[in-house]
Amino acid sequence: SQRLFGGFRKTSERLSSNLTGVVGTAKLDDATLDDVEDALIMSDLGPSAAARIRGKLAEKRFGLEITMDELRLAMAEEIAEILRPVAKPLDIVAFPRPQVILVIGVNGSGKTTTIAKLAHLFQEDDYGVMLAAGDTFRAAAIGQLQTWADRIGVPLIRGAEGGDPASVVFDAVKEATATGIDALVVDTAGRLQNKRELMDELSKIRKVLGRLNPEAPHDVVLVLDATNGQNALAQIDVFREVAGVTGLVMTKLDGTARGGVLVQAAEQYGLPIHAIGVGEKIDDLRPFDPDLVARVIA
Ligand code: GDP
Repeated sequence: SQRLFGGFRKTSERLSSNLTGVVGTAKLDDATLDDVEDALIMSDLGPSAAARIRGKLAEKRFGLEITMDELRLAMAEEIAEILRPVAKPLDIVAFPRPQVILVIGVNGSGKTTTIAKLAHLFQEDDYGVMLAAGDTFRAAAIGQLQTWADRIGVPLIRGAEGGDPASVVFDAVKEATATGIDALVVDTAGRLQNKRELMDELSKIRKVLGRLNPEAPHDVVLVLDATNGQNALAQIDVFREVAGVTGLVMTKLDGTARGGVLVQAAEQYGLPIHAIGVGEKIDDLRPFDPDLVARVIA
């Protein structure tokens, strides 16, 4: 698990350095609690989660002696409390099949890689998986998805470059239904520069999907790059409005000290967190284990 969440190493180091000098007094008093709260905010957990954790610490321990180790254990417990309610794996439950999973996010967030990683996780559970290249505007995106599809051995439905994403999705659902696919994972355009256009495109995809299966899309998974810190959170607001997000995957938790945004996202939005990306390789998508993550962060 150390290697697993080597990912959060820098986040944890940032919190440690922000906590330096906090426990000057042996007893947990207001000044110490202020310092703890500041350290949490500086570590990207956000004012609201920081206040909540402070409140819980005060409620349980105010005036009691506390060592740094005890303080960190207590913080880990409160962080876990925030994370537990949102930890939800992306289960394949749709009936009839296929379960249609739209994957959205800005370009560069790790969307394509995450799609391949998700497909790989489903394969490991013996589900039949198909991909659809719904981002028809970037030839590179289609090519990259094809490379992943070939590498892991799943079919990819793609249209002409510049073609209609909704018609690619239509073809994919028909093909997936005909071939008994369990999970259809759909890449979509990540152009937030033009919100209107993206919104139109996604609603057209929804309309087409709805005609084939009123339940589809079953999931709308937003991929967020943790290295974007507060900006990643701002994207939740926009994509919720544009796309009706049902869950999150946060990527690049390996190279960043800003992993605290994961806690902030959980506290502020309460959206399910399905998995986390901790590297570039196919098996670097981990199930979201709230207790483990909390322990590693704190
Ligand atoms: P897209 O433009 O959103 O489809 O992004 P890509 O999937 O192409 O990813 C952009 C870059 O981020 C690539 O170099 C990926 O290898 C890298 N990447 C994706 N997820 C992770 C992750 O969890 N950790 C790290 N370190 N890199 C990642």
